[in-house]
Amino acid sequence: MDLTIHQNCPSCGAQIELSEADRLILCPYCEVRNFMVTRGPLRFVLPDKAPDHIDRSEMFYAPYLRFKGNIFYCKGKYLKYKVVDTTRQGISASALPPSLGLRPQAMPVFLVTNEVAGIFLRQTVKAITLLEKAAHLMVIDSDTIKAPFYHRAYIGETVSCIYLPLYIDNGVLYDAVTNTLLARGGSVEKMREIGSAYRENWTPHFLATLCPRCGDSLTGEHDSLVLSCYNCHSSWEEKQGGFHALDWNCVVSDHKQIYYLPFWKLRVRSTGVEMDTFADLLRITNQPLVIQKKHKEMELDFWIPAFKLRPSTFLRLGKNMTLSQAKIPEGEESMVKRMHPVTLPRKEAIQALKSILAEAALNKRKLLPLLPEMSMHPLATELTYLPFFDKGHDFVQEQTGIALAKSVLRFGRKL
Ligand SMILES: [Zn+2]
Ligand SMILES: [Zn+2]
Repeated sequence: MDLTIHQNCPSCGAQIELSEADRLILCPYCEVRNFMVTRGPLRFVLPDKAPDHIDRSEMFYAPYLRFKGNIFYCKGKYLKYKVVDTTRQGISASALPPSLGLRPQAMPVFLVTNEVAGIFLRQTVKAITLLEKAAHLMVIDSDTIKAPFYHRAYIGETVSCIYLPLYIDNGVLYDAVTNTLLARGGSVEKMREIGSAYRENWTPHFLATLCPRCGDSLTGEHDSLVLSCYNCHSSWEEKQGGFHALDWNCVVSDHKQIYYLPFWKLRVRSTGVEMDTFADLLRITNQPLVIQKKHKEMELDFWIPAFKLRPSTFLRLGKNMTLSQAKIPEGEESMVKRMHPVTLPRKEAIQALKSILAEAALNKRKLLPLLPEMSMHPLATELTYLPFFDKGHDFVQEQTGIALAKSVLRFGRKL
């Protein structure tokens, strides 16, 4: 489930409401667009109802880590996945509730800014530990499969930190959201001593959405990670606080009623188990076709959806597009209308490579044990928009005939 975030417009200061995946923020009051740049996980605080006699500087905040995403894993001859949405203590403290329960979904959260006075307790549990725990639980869950474990990847992930506001009144620790008593005694005082005040690099900053090349305004949707300039036909992603041009193209269709979906086209080399050409991919995954000279001359590209999807659809679409790549013509740097936003970052597409390879394997018993020794390196990345016919309930890819239900796309925007 998505968080609702209250945030002040960086241009006019009005309070606006966002959802967790939003990056391009259009203020309904001043109509200025700003692109949110984060350094590390977003940090939120739950709204509190601490009594008036508690000085704001006496408040303190306990970190909870929130993870939302998919874990893909390979075990025995199976490629499986699990959708995870969990919030856990980011600090070991028995006095605190182990989880925030449904509270982050039931109330708006606020981005931590310099206006939040008080002390933030130090996060001592690493986000990766939380992920490993979730993955481990899942492996235990699937204990019925008594087989070796070969690979796992976290994809489509959001990791954020949500602070639970607390205060101490007459030596008693209270949860400031509900004003309920949590513990007595002085141990919590010690926790507060090792906390720190707000740090400036916690707050996202904002970029004006102007094309660095031509100065025209960049466009995108609220959850777009890549912005487009329709004036000079360029694509931009944020990196280290600035916009950087992306290698991109679009396979422009002559037909009407076309919708364009973005894919990360990753040129890959694999070591450990050698995979250099498209023919190698066909051979390693045991595709039922005769490998020809033209396959041996083709580069090896993986076509990974650049937008969030349910895990099963994500794997299937990535596999089908990768295996059908010979049918896709070269694109051009030409902006079109009706382009789906990029919502899955390139680094997650890279993490998905082995899972897509596993999905493509017809003989999983043979391929999956090779995964640990394989190392897949992306040599180059291009963002490619492919044309899909709008056929009522489905989108159908023009060159390959690969279909995708529209409902799946709508669902993906909420992941
Ligand atoms: Zn504004
Ligand atoms: Zn431009």
